[in-house]
Amino acid sequence: MSDEVYPTPAGAPAPPETGGAPYAECVLCREPTEYPESYRGVTMCPRCAWQEAQRGACSG
Ligand SMILES: [Zn+2]
Repeated sequence: MSDEVYPTPAGAPAPPETGGAPYAECVLCREPTEYPESYRGVTMCPRCAWQEAQRGACSG
C-alpha cells in the first residue's frame, strides 16, 4: 500500500475531513472534490485548484 496524495498548491488549506459524507462538486468541472457537501465556500478539485493557482501566479 502507498500513501499517495494529490499535490496541493503552495499555501492551499488542507481539505477538511468528510467523515464519510458525500463530496461536493468542483465548481469548474463538476468532478468530485476532496471537500464535503457541507463545505461553505468554493470547492475545486485538485486539478482545477492547481490551474487556478497557476493563473493567479501568472496574472501578477
Ligand atoms: Zn475541477
